[in-house]
Amino acid sequence: MLYRAHLLNPCSPTRLEEIPDALMEVNAAGCITAVGAFEELAPRLGNQPMEDLRPLWILPGMVDLHVHLPQHEAVAMDGLELLPWLETFIFPAEARFADTSVARASAARFFQGLLYRGTTTASIYATVHAEATDAAFHEADRCGIRAILGKVMMDQHSPAALQESTAESLAQSEALCQTWHGRSQGRLQYAFTPRFAPTCSSELMRGAGLMAEKYGAYIQTHLSENLAELAWVKALFPEAANYTDVYQRMHMLGPRTLLAHGIHLDAGERQVIRESGATIVHCPRSNAFLQSGIMPLRRYLGEGLSVGLGTDVGAGPSLSMWAEAAAVCTTSKLRWAERQNLAHHLRAMGGLEASQRAEIMAQLDLNPLTPVDPVQAFHLATLGGARALGLDSRIGSLEVGKDADFVVVDPRMVDPAVDRPAEPPERVLSRMLYREHPGMVRATYVRGARCFAAT
Ligand SMILES: [Zn+2]
Repeated sequence: MLYRAHLLNPCSPTRLEEIPDALMEVNAAGCITAVGAFEELAPRLGNQPMEDLRPLWILPGMVDLHVHLPQHEAVAMDGLELLPWLETFIFPAEARFADTSVARASAARFFQGLLYRGTTTASIYATVHAEATDAAFHEADRCGIRAILGKVMMDQHSPAALQESTAESLAQSEALCQTWHGRSQGRLQYAFTPRFAPTCSSELMRGAGLMAEKYGAYIQTHLSENLAELAWVKALFPEAANYTDVYQRMHMLGPRTLLAHGIHLDAGERQVIRESGATIVHCPRSNAFLQSGIMPLRRYLGEGLSVGLGTDVGAGPSLSMWAEAAAVCTTSKLRWAERQNLAHHLRAMGGLEASQRAEIMAQLDLNPLTPVDPVQAFHLATLGGARALGLDSRIGSLEVGKDADFVVVDPRMVDPAVDRPAEPPERVLSRMLYREHPGMVRATYVRGARCFAAT
């Protein structure tokens, strides 16, 4: 099958590849076998069936590294920070998944929501319920999305409706991993999912780490999101040097580990994470919503940490990775501006010793950094996320040898000037992110199969 369209690829954090009139060939297995300029490829590729998508654009599908399926219908519950928000809104929403028919219906809507927003790969938390998780896998399989999914594990400090025994949690997670990990030619994968340190015993976390290693599966959890959470972890695990050290001691850190948030990490923690190869998943809209803070993204990237993006629905308000990427830029600008402003006031202030002033300035992290821009945010949302999963040889950009995971986008839907002459792709991309329109994704393909089409 051939697709003719305007093509946009992420090449690096600073560079896009644009082919205004592109042709992409996809074989029966859903693999890209040729991609390039139409005028160069058309004579060679002959008379295959062709979908002429012009003037629409094709881009690689979005990679969402952190999202909660059972929270999809509990979004936008405003007014609380992390821990009371979980107790008040989220745990009751997750308890409903004890009814598998509720779980199945919610899963179908959730996956449709991801595809509708152009997300082709997602790393997903289900609930503690094994049957609901199994139903979610069935729905992911049926709709064609690429999913990394896991049953949430929690065996302490949890509401009665969600708390499991350690043995039961480990046994059910292992059974689900054995059933689903690698299914549908690797399109479905398992992630052991201890929720976060406070709701997990050491035995549970250690067991999850061992099983992830045994099966070559992923492991996903939350790390260092909120100051009250940090204090709780410190009280529960006094033997650990810090929050990251809790997971390090449980053998949970490795290249297939996804750590959501990581807002408050000291230099030692960042070094441990970097050396382990684990990924920090940045979720800026969630962090704003729960008043958690702004992760120092540029600092982490500068230090060589692996970073990806996640919507973190339901603390994040929607499944749109376009809007999440825009929020990466917005929060990066706010962080940059606030620090510049603080430094300005600090310089004008009297009454501080020079050494105190120097210390505060150092804390402000005022290196000559500029905020993250849309090209870098788009890279994080696509190829960067794929790399974090160790899947960048398969997905993340539209290249020969990769799977045809792509979205068809109508940029006219986000442009007030529909008669605008051609302009640099960075500007078009910027509008797609900042002005994301729910209807701009016209179709979503995973491995060459159309999983969503706008009517
Ligand atoms: Zn989360």
